[in-house]
Order: sequence, then C-alpha cells, then structure tokens
Amino acid sequence: MKEMSGRLIAVLESGGTKMVAALASSPSDILVRERIPTTSPKETMAHLVRFFLRAATAHGRPDALAVGTFGPADLDRGSAGYGYITSTPKEGWSQTDLLGPLRKVLGDIPAVFETDVNAALFGESIWGATKGLKNAAYFTVGTGIGGGLMIDGDLVHGSGHPEMGHMRVSRHPDDNFRGTCSFHRDCLEGMASGPAVEERWGIPAAELPRDHPAWEMEAWYLAQACVNVLMIAPPERIVLGGGVMHQEQLFPMVREKLAGLLNGYLQLPDLENLVGPPELGDDAGLLGCVALGQKLIQA
Ligand code: ADP
Ligand code: ZN
Repeated sequence: MKEMSGRLIAVLESGGTKMVAALASSPSDILVRERIPTTSPKETMAHLVRFFLRAATAHGRPDALAVGTFGPADLDRGSAGYGYITSTPKEGWSQTDLLGPLRKVLGDIPAVFETDVNAALFGESIWGATKGLKNAAYFTVGTGIGGGLMIDGDLVHGSGHPEMGHMRVSRHPDDNFRGTCSFHRDCLEGMASGPAVEERWGIPAAELPRDHPAWEMEAWYLAQACVNVLMIAPPERIVLGGGVMHQEQLFPMVREKLAGLLNGYLQLPDLENLVGPPELGDDAGLLGCVALGQKLIQA
C-alpha cells in the first residue's frame, strides 16, 4: 500500500449494526480504533464523542475528519441538513446529526461526509480492486444491499446519492418469495440481501450448501444489478462484497448470467475482470475514509 503518513485523520465508518471509529495517518498506521455498537443515537453519539476526545488527547488533534455512513444521508454541503442521516428505516436514527457533534468535539477541521459504500469504493480505488480505474461500481450484499458508484474518477452523488440496493429487478421464474424490503418488497435488497435469502429458504445464508438452488437464484438477481449499472454508467469493474459474497461460487455464476443477460448486445467485456471481489475486505469502508481524509488534506 502506498504510504502517506504524518497528517492525522479522524475516521468513522458508521453502520447500522456497528460503528468503527479510528485515528489514522495511513492504512498501515492506525493509531487507535474502536468498535462501538450502533444503539440509540444519543448513546452512540456520546460514545463516539468520548472516543474521539480521548484519541485526540492521546495523539493530538486530527487534521481532517472523514465519515462514511449508512443512509440515506444528506451529503450536500450546501444543505441545512448536511451531515445528517435522513429518512432511514433504522429506528430512532431519522434526522440524526452525525457530523455536527463530531466536528464540535474535534474543532473546526475540514470534513468529508460520504456514504459507506462510496467510501469503500474510494478505498478500493486507491489501494484495492479498482486501483487506477476511473469508472467503477461497488455493491455490498449483506444485511442490506448498498451500492457506490464512481464515474470519471468522481464518486457519484447526483441529487442525493445512489440507492442501487433498491433498484427494480425481475423475478426469477421459480421465485414466489414476496421480498423483505419494507418499502418495495421485491427490489434488489428485498430479494437478494442476506436476510432475504434466509427468509426465502428458512436457513441462514451462511449455512446453505454451496450447491443449493439458492445460489443460482441469488446470481440471477446480482447479475441484473450488474447489467443495470453496466447500462447506466459503464464501470470498468464491478466489485461485489459483503457477507453473502463469502459464497465464492457466486462469482462465476453471476458472470455467466450476466453474459446471458447481455445476450451479445455489448461487445462482451472480460467478465473475469469485470466482476470480482473487494481486496480490502472488511476494512474497505474504514480505509476508504482514510483515503478520503488524505484527499481532503491534499486538496
Ligand atoms: P452488514 O451488512 O451487517 O455490515 P455483512 O456484510 O457481514 O454485515 O452481512 C451480513 C449478512 O450476510 C447476514 O444476512 C448473513 O446471513 C450473511 N452472511 C454472512 N456470512 C455469510 C456467508 N459465509 N455466506 C452467506 N451469507 C453470509
Ligand atoms: Zn427496497
């Protein structure tokens, strides 16, 4: 990994089940990190504030703050709600100011506020699976499904941020499952997240055998996600990560179904190269925040 140490960055990967907070100067120089369960906003924010206060006292005030969060979140610097989690279904977290209390405790340092998946994609683009590529997509297939997108070297926000986990997908012909998404039922997340697999088959996804028909169905949905993003913002690589993608047999299955869906329409890209796993593993989000913080300091 490329080193760029010296300047301290306060980083927060904010997830629906856990927060990972750290003080780091580079991926290989993480001075202190802590995993904090995501409970109520009040309790969690107090925990985070205490962590950053202690960290700054021990190691010095950081030069930048970088947050990658679950959403939906307000990433628009010009908006009154910048730095807030907005309309999340996560209980108690709607309209929660995530960035404000951290900036307050760390002083008025430059800050960047991103989605967790865009942050992870950015990390992959500096040190991982999409290194050097300017057009890439990243899906995490776990408790939910999230997607990050980079076009021409920039992370995409649009008028908010992409919500690719909730794209429409066509049903597998043998699938009668109604879907788990509380908003849309049978969107991508509703059909292909870890909890969807578990509810459909009555067995936790991690316990289904490798040759179970669940995986052919899962690949059907994930291939649609790939083809859709390929048609909208042609990435040079699509990274598929998250707990469900620990089922490595899914990769060749997704590639095969993707080829079928394209049906010769596009000159077939090298699918082996196009669709693959992340390289930064579980640390992609946190390291992505380190990279975003470094970029901010350099700017
Ligand atoms: P989170 O989305 O909460 O950040 P993960 O990405 O680990 O965390 O996703 C958790 C989901 O992934 C759970 O629904 C779980 O069933 C599923 N999962 C975890 N490990 C595996 C595995 N080895 N095979 C299939 N599914 C898995
Ligand atoms: Zn949905």
